[in-house]
Amino acid sequence: MARCDVAQMAGLSWDWDSIDAAWKKEGRWPECAAGNSAMTIRPLQGASILVVGAGIMGAGIAQLAARAGHRMQLFDARAGEAQQAVRKLGATLDALVAKGKLTAEAAEITLGCIEPLAALEELRDDTRLVIEAIVEDLDAKRALFQQLEALLAADCVLATNTSSISVTAIANGLEHPGRLVGMHFFNPVAQMKLVEVVSGLHTDASVAAAIFDLSCAWGKTPVHARSTPGFIVNRIARPFYAETLALLLEQAATPQVLDACLRAAGFRMGPCELMDLIGHDTNFAVTLSVYKAHFFDKRFAPSPVQHEMVDGGLLGRKSGRGFYRYQSDGSGLPPLPVAVHEAPSTAGEVTVHGVGVIADFLDLAATRALAQQGWGPARVHDSGWTGLAIDGARLVLSDGRCAAELAAELDSQDIAVFDRLLAVPTSTGTALAFAVAPAASPAWRTQAAAWLAALGFAPLRLADAPGLVVARTVAMLINEAADAVQQGVCTPDSADAAMKLGVNYPAGPFEWLSGWSVAGVIAVLDALDAYYRGERYRASPWLHRRNQAAR
Ligand code: NAD
Repeated sequence: MARCDVAQMAGLSWDWDSIDAAWKKEGRWPECAAGNSAMTIRPLQGASILVVGAGIMGAGIAQLAARAGHRMQLFDARAGEAQQAVRKLGATLDALVAKGKLTAEAAEITLGCIEPLAALEELRDDTRLVIEAIVEDLDAKRALFQQLEALLAADCVLATNTSSISVTAIANGLEHPGRLVGMHFFNPVAQMKLVEVVSGLHTDASVAAAIFDLSCAWGKTPVHARSTPGFIVNRIARPFYAETLALLLEQAATPQVLDACLRAAGFRMGPCELMDLIGHDTNFAVTLSVYKAHFFDKRFAPSPVQHEMVDGGLLGRKSGRGFYRYQSDGSGLPPLPVAVHEAPSTAGEVTVHGVGVIADFLDLAATRALAQQGWGPARVHDSGWTGLAIDGARLVLSDGRCAAELAAELDSQDIAVFDRLLAVPTSTGTALAFAVAPAASPAWRTQAAAWLAALGFAPLRLADAPGLVVARTVAMLINEAADAVQQGVCTPDSADAAMKLGVNYPAGPFEWLSGWSVAGVIAVLDALDAYYRGERYRASPWLHRRNQAAR
């Protein structure tokens, strides 16, 4: 059955060819013709705007729009809340003036743009955009928009700042559902560049386009997303936490070690310190909502580790204790673990194996380390693995399999695996996870760490878990991004931009993929899948298709 026939049976009349074309050209989910004719929306730059909800996000959005010169109204269901938000904004602007970052005149004009509203009925007749930032509750949001529809012109755009509720569901029941779109800002609104422009099944393409353009005019970087659980950022980011929680659950490493490894890979914060900052209650709630919305797909399953922390009130920084203990001044992160630095014992034969930047770096580092002893390593390019052979023992770049599996395959116990490098280290002392085969000789256990130190790393030993830390986390982030693209949530470019701007990742998942290989990522996922058995590590069809095409 053709795709359009299926859509028509479902009461929808999608033109799949134009959907494909729109995605390729604009990265956008085009309008669906389910009783929803295309709208013509005038550009929203300069429009009068109403923001509903004067909490953290609503106040931030009102400030942003007022700074851009819009005439703003701000309403909150709690009496006095909108006035209070405007007063706070006045204090924020005064502080900027005092620091010389804003002129007193600009501050006065900005503040003069915002009018607190006592009742929704007092909204301006020429309001052309409403941005909702009320409580995260479907019924409350639906009721608000239905109430607003009775007060607004038919072409007024309705935007919701929801971070987790289906935009399609919020629009359901509206007289003009095509005008409702997600406009998902990140906290703090003034600083975070990303806006996810989220289209539900009803959303008119011209409405999404108008919000996209307005976000650009406000100095943000918008990305189009389809309304699916977690949208782009909150979905793709799940494995960053989940893989660390899985390693903690099986006692493979401590929070300190896991954080150090991922920070060394370029992440601004490790998952444990980040979960402590977000709050385990909040992070658990988001995880649970994405898990439920995916009908309990095991890939998104929350961890008993975080559940127990929530139950125990160990919520992170806000409660003074999470994975770490915090002082009242916010300090409290323990220092990085200190690396073992021993010179490698004299080896008779060292060979660097593999091709590519990591192998080249190992060659350079081993040459440097052995130069003190007056000789250098040999090099073999076509052995099919990357790492060092040292007198018959092997130090192997992780391909997802644990050291014990490699030892069994090679029928040799002196095997160690080390974690994936996302970039060639530019300084010595970069934390790097490694694991040694359980039956390795005591001498090799010491030497594996000493060799990594001699190559310039700060080696951190883990239990022999497949994919170590960085390899499995990044492979899973790529996999989730690939699935999001496969399911039409976003384009690869949008996924990269969203992860860099929404959660400050050092690179986007598809940028990591271009420095790795599709086959290499699938190998790590397959190794995890074979080891743990279950649906969690299944590789995305997007990756499989690219891998087949590359053959
Ligand atoms: P908040 O609790 O700080 O503010 C919500 C405000 O809405 C409150 O002042 C409340 O009185 C008001 N309100 C509740 N129901 C209302 C109604 N029916 N009509 C008018 N006002 C009503 O919440 P927040 O953190 O600003 O979040 C608001 C929205 O933004 C939520 O949908 C949330 O998921 C989303 N969001 C939050 C963040 C974040 O980091 N806080 C980030 C992105 C998106």
